[in-house]
Amino acid sequence: VARNPHETEFHQAVKEILESLIPVISKHPKYMKHGILERMVEPERLITFRVPWVDDQGNVRVNRGFRVQFNSAIGPYKGGLRFHPSVNASIIKFLGFEQTFKNSLTGQPIGGGKGGSDFDPKGKSDSEVMRFTQSFMTELSKYIGQDTDVPAGDIGVGGREIGFMFGQYKRLHGGHEAGVLTGKGIGYGGSLARTEATGYGAVYFVNEMLNGKGLSFEGSTVVVSGSGNVAIYAIQKAHQLGAKVVACSDSNGYIYDKDGINLETVQRLKEVERKRISEYVKEHPGAIYSEGCHNIWSIPCDIALPCATQNEIDEASAKLLVANGVKAVGEGANMPSTLDAIDIFLNAGVLFGPAKAANAGGVAVSALEMSQNSMRYSWHFHEVDDKLHAIMKNIYRNSVQAAEEYGHPGNMVVGANIAGFLKVADAMLAHGVV
Ligand code: NDP
Repeated sequence: VARNPHETEFHQAVKEILESLIPVISKHPKYMKHGILERMVEPERLITFRVPWVDDQGNVRVNRGFRVQFNSAIGPYKGGLRFHPSVNASIIKFLGFEQTFKNSLTGQPIGGGKGGSDFDPKGKSDSEVMRFTQSFMTELSKYIGQDTDVPAGDIGVGGREIGFMFGQYKRLHGGHEAGVLTGKGIGYGGSLARTEATGYGAVYFVNEMLNGKGLSFEGSTVVVSGSGNVAIYAIQKAHQLGAKVVACSDSNGYIYDKDGINLETVQRLKEVERKRISEYVKEHPGAIYSEGCHNIWSIPCDIALPCATQNEIDEASAKLLVANGVKAVGEGANMPSTLDAIDIFLNAGVLFGPAKAANAGGVAVSALEMSQNSMRYSWHFHEVDDKLHAIMKNIYRNSVQAAEEYGHPGNMVVGANIAGFLKVADAMLAHGVV
């Protein structure tokens, strides 16, 4: 804490992981002896940079860019870019730290990284977004490459932003280094099923947890927060598995539709028209819009899928969900539950799928995109989706086994953290003190 003052999100992420590693450290003192934990919490590199750009009125604007290259023990740094006004070093470091363990869990050869900017894409024209992303990539391009560091999307960074950044990277470096970014358009090296992967993967993971208890999505009521990339495809897959999703949100408020959310409307409003979720009730008068997102967790549901942002489920929300009979919580977003909220779920016997396991499907398919780029080949949608499904089952199985082996049966937080840790720690040991 003294070394990283004011980095509250980073402290929170580190605390969660270190606590669950206690049984591993007790059993294997070699990790302490070789300073593995001290090395793991220190990023290999944190780059910050100025991003100057010109708005449509001709004013010069300045934002701050970040890239954290956290850990490359098992492969090139891999992790998304977030454009949101809240972005700072603490948020980027918490995301990069988590990413290291998540990427290890996928079973793919990818290290951990993350980046972004405090730029707010909301309300900006396409030209402004393009000028900003070009300036951002002009600096970022010095530090990335298909074998060193491969960024992707995150909050505020979707297909449009990745396209602009890819164009700028290509202009600066020449050639067509397809593997330098993932989440690309299908026409220029993107992978089918990447757009759907995080949301689908989260639902596949929760489905494994439910099946383990003889339960399923069929006939259940689901609440999903957010209405971005992860939320939309979590809703789609939950519907396909026979569930009814009754609520979703954006940063202004949430909608409740007792008949089930009409996903086509949400997709058009958010993906095409870039409008607010409040517009939904104009087309579906039976639905209710409420200002503010916090109370979305007061809606009774069997399954909760937080897919918006960090710390959106606090202690009070967790208590409400439990009181209303929630059976499973699957984290589509990164660190959406506070540490207190997680304790409440675990103590109440709620099936809890932590982010680094439940939302690993996105980065797993990003790694599959890198493989396809290297082969100069594209798999069909169903091939990628089948691989994603198998990867999520594997993550579930490995997390269950690690939790059992280290004395916390059924605790997926401990299981995922340990399973992710071991592979990275052993690679670091093998590499000596670097
Ligand atoms: P998007 O930008 O597509 O969507 C984010 C959604 O969350 C939007 O509905 C947004 O509302 C809402 N939101 C963002 N910030 C806040 C906030 N501070 N309070 C309330 N609501 C907020 O992002 P993604 O769907 O890609 O990402 C969502 C989460 O999933 C993040 O935690 C991300 O790190 C995580 N994730 C994403 C992956 C991916 O493949 N995309 C992979 C793994 C994790 P509004 O439209 O009003 O901004």
